Amino acid sequence: METADVVVIGAGANGTSTAFHLAKAGVKDVVVVEKNHLGAGATGKSGALVRMHYTNEHETRLAVESFKYFTNWSDMVGGDCGLNQIGLFVFTPPEHYADLEANVAMQKEVGAETYLLTAEDAAEIDPSVSFHDVTHVAYEPNSGYADPNATTYSFARAAMDMGVRFKLDTPVTRILTEGDRVTGVETPDGVIQTSNVVVCAGAWANKLFQPIGVDLPLEPKYARVSVFRWSFDRPEKHMTYIDRINGTWSRPTDGHSTLIGAETGVRPSDDPDHYQEAPNQDYVNHCRQQLINRFPVMRHSTMRGTWAGILMRSVDSRPVIGSVDQYEGLYCMTGDSGTSFKTSPAIGKCLSELITTGASSTVDLTPFRPSRFAEGKPWVDVHTYGSTDDEDTISR
Ligand SMILES: Cc1cc2nc3c(=O)[nH]c(=O)nc-3n(C[C@H](O)[C@H](O)[C@H](O)COP(=O)(O)OP(=O)(O)OC[C@H]3O[C@@H](n4cnc5c(N)ncnc54)[C@H](O)[C@@H]3O)c2cc1C
Repeated sequence: METADVVVIGAGANGTSTAFHLAKAGVKDVVVVEKNHLGAGATGKSGALVRMHYTNEHETRLAVESFKYFTNWSDMVGGDCGLNQIGLFVFTPPEHYADLEANVAMQKEVGAETYLLTAEDAAEIDPSVSFHDVTHVAYEPNSGYADPNATTYSFARAAMDMGVRFKLDTPVTRILTEGDRVTGVETPDGVIQTSNVVVCAGAWANKLFQPIGVDLPLEPKYARVSVFRWSFDRPEKHMTYIDRINGTWSRPTDGHSTLIGAETGVRPSDDPDHYQEAPNQDYVNHCRQQLINRFPVMRHSTMRGTWAGILMRSVDSRPVIGSVDQYEGLYCMTGDSGTSFKTSPAIGKCLSELITTGASSTVDLTPFRPSRFAEGKPWVDVHTYGSTDDEDTISR
C-alpha cells in the first residue's frame, strides 16, 4: 500500500505552498492529491491582489510575511510569480476616517509600507480617479497584483524538485480515520496511508469534512469579475484599487484593460461542482456603473470579458487555518473568504511549522484556529468600514 508522511489535498496556491514548505522543512515524503489540475479552484480565477491592507493584525502579519516572498520570488521559491508593483489605493467612507487611521497605524506597526494620504495628494499620484467622495485614502506604493497561476506553478515546480509527488486528476473520495486519528486518504487509485492530512480543498472542503463528522461553518460562494478595455481618453496610469464605497476592487489586465470585481451582496450557496463560469448581464452592468463612479473616463469603455470562480466563505469571513481538534493529524486551510491568495506563502510556511514542530512561529495561527466557532468566539474586527463583512462575496 502507498504511504506518505503528509498528504495535502488540493493544488491551489495554499496546497502547493504548504507542500513546498513541508519539503523545505525536510519532510521527505509529501504527496499532493488534486482532483483536477494545478490552480483549478479559486486560485486560477483569482484577482490576485497583493497588498497589506487588512482590518486586523493577524491577516496583516500573514500578508507582510507573504510580501517578502512575492518581492523575492526567484530567490525564495524559484520561477516567477508575475508580481506588478503598481501601487494601491484603498477608498473608505469619510465617516470611517478614525478606523482607516487606526488600521494604517496598525499595519505600519506590523511592518507594512503604507501611508495615509489626503485626497488632494492622492490625486497628484493618479489623476484618472475621482476622489469626490473621500477625504483620505490609504496608499501602498509597492503593492499591486501577481499572476495566481504562475505563483502556483512555481510553488509546485519547486516542491517537485524537492521530491514532492503530485497526483493530478485524482480526487480524494474520503479521509480515513481510526478512533481519533487520521490514517490515510482514499482515492480511485487506492489508499494512501498517512498520519497527517492537510485539507486545502477550497470550496470543496465540506465534502471531505462532513463524512468524518467535522462541522465547520463554511459556505461555498460565487465570485465574479469583468474586464473593460480602457477608453480613448483614459490616461495609461493605472494602479490597484480597493473601493469600500462602491464595493469593488480593480486592477489592470492585459496591458490595456481594467479587471474589476464588484460586491453584489451574499448569494445563496453555490455547488462548487456545478457553478456558472460566466456571469450574467446584470453583473456586467453593475460593474460598468461602479467602474464609472470611480473612473469617469471609463464611461466609453468596451466590455471585453468576464469569468466567475468559487471560493469558501467562513461565517466570520476569515480564513480557518490549523489543526482540526477532532482528529490527531488533521489540518486545514479553508474558509479563504476571497482573500487568501496574497497570504498563501505565509499560510503554507505556518502550516508546515505547525505540522513539523507543533507550533507556528512565523505568524501565530491561534486566531485562525478551526475551533473558534465551537468555542463561540468567531472573529470580530474592531476597525471596519461600515459594510459588515457578512455582505462581502468577493475578494478583498
Ligand atoms: C474571482 C476571485 C477573485 C479573487 N481575488 C483575490 C485577490 O485579489 N486577492 C486575494 O488574496 N485573493 C483573492 N481571491 C481569493 C483567492 O483566490 C483564494 O483565497 C485562494 O486562491 C484560495 O486558494 P486555496 O489553495 O486555498 O484553494 P483553491 O484554489 O480553491 O484550491 C482548492 C483545490 O482543491 C482541489 N480539491 C477540492 N476537493 C478535492 C478532493 N476531494 N480531492 C482532490 N482535490 C480536491 C480543487 O480542485 C482545487 O484545485 C479571489 C478569488 C476569486 C474566485
